[in-house]
Amino acid sequence: MADDARTAPANDAAGTPVLQVDGVRRMFTRPHGDPLVVLESVNLSLRRGEIVGLLGRSGSGKSTLLRIVAGLIQPSDGHVVYRNQRLDGPADGIAMVFQSFALFPWLTVLENVEAGLEAQGVAPHEMRERALAAIDIIGLDGFANAYPRELSGGMRQRVGFARALVMDPTVLLMDEPFSALDVLTAETLRTDFLDLWTENALPIQSVLLVTHNIEEAVFMCDRILLFSSNPGRVIAEIEVPFKHPRNRLDPRFRYLVDDIYARMTARSPVDQPAAVPTIGERLTEVSTNLLAGLIESLAAPQHGGRADMPEIARTLALEVDELFPIAETLQLLGYAHITHGDLILTPLGHDFAHADTQDRKDSFARQLISRIPLAAHIKNVLDERPNHRAPAVRFLSELEDYLSDSAAEETLSAVTRWGRYAELFSYDDDAETFSLEQDAE
Ligand code: ADP
Ligand code: MG
Repeated sequence: MADDARTAPANDAAGTPVLQVDGVRRMFTRPHGDPLVVLESVNLSLRRGEIVGLLGRSGSGKSTLLRIVAGLIQPSDGHVVYRNQRLDGPADGIAMVFQSFALFPWLTVLENVEAGLEAQGVAPHEMRERALAAIDIIGLDGFANAYPRELSGGMRQRVGFARALVMDPTVLLMDEPFSALDVLTAETLRTDFLDLWTENALPIQSVLLVTHNIEEAVFMCDRILLFSSNPGRVIAEIEVPFKHPRNRLDPRFRYLVDDIYARMTARSPVDQPAAVPTIGERLTEVSTNLLAGLIESLAAPQHGGRADMPEIARTLALEVDELFPIAETLQLLGYAHITHGDLILTPLGHDFAHADTQDRKDSFARQLISRIPLAAHIKNVLDERPNHRAPAVRFLSELEDYLSDSAAEETLSAVTRWGRYAELFSYDDDAETFSLEQDAE
């Protein structure tokens, strides 16, 4: 499909599958012994000459899938086929660039780049030659003897790329490689990489790029696979028909970004009818400042209570990953709802935007009690106890029947933060205790 639109190496036998993921499933065991299914029935194939994006929200299992494709961990079910063979560990020809750079701080740039070759037993002379060539091509010449701590984030990630490229990989896996960099550095590195790719300067035949950034996916990829959460699976495939170099301001580019935005929000749980909420509903800790800020922006005259999600994300200088939990929390609390990629303020949201501080707190308290069962539960317990106090651990252990330890902690922490703001209850950080007294702060 749309192979003619591909701008990557055209002299390769384009379209031949290089790597295939078949029915991959992956479970982890939760602390209480319950299984957590992170990936379910994942199928995808990487063809020669293409950059494929795997676009999904944080926690959807993207890194887990990439680790499986890299042969670093095993699937619980299904398999990965690379060069007609089932993968059963790291394969020559598959290299990875990590979000965190993952450099050895005690080695120089040159030694970092040589490290992988050394492990393969490449002769010292050849090792040096190949490492210097990789350093050169990725724009690190002159830095061979520097240590990672002496480099900027962008230069460190160049080392990350050089370390992958020196292996002469057929398949390059990238796990959010630009997300730890500032905006300008990230863009420079993306463009430099795309230049090398389109000039055929790299031995790589296909790239699998994991990202949560829609614009990045549309900027770089020939094909985008939308990834769902809980469990992670591929739910849609989108061809990107633009030639490199791409122009982010091109209306067709913008249209595609908006379209993907809408699809991602349409697939998010917020668009589905709410299941009967329980105290074990997982919540994301979002600051009340951000919640109020988003309500205010929506209510502002230029939006008039309704805004396109990508647009409001840009206004607030937020990324998709950051906007979704805020928007979802507003929906959960009844201040807004999400339809087809638009965020729409409810009458309650409008009231909130125009209320003074105390009325906002009262409104928030009412919404917490009526819409967040955990908040109502904590309030109830405190009301009923003669001393009106209860330790956090009591609620945490209840939550752990439903959620993993870290999810339970974040959920309780979210409700604590919101409840304090609403003056529904107080929380003493040192004693880790809830009470009905006013917070001292
Ligand atoms: P993403 O890269 O999309 O943010 P991850 O693949 O890192 O997602 O994680 C997906 C889910 O799997 C998360 O809920 C995470 O907590 C869980 N997970 C990842 N690795 C492990 C592990 N080794 N043990 C238990 N749970 C894990
Ligand atoms: Mg990840």
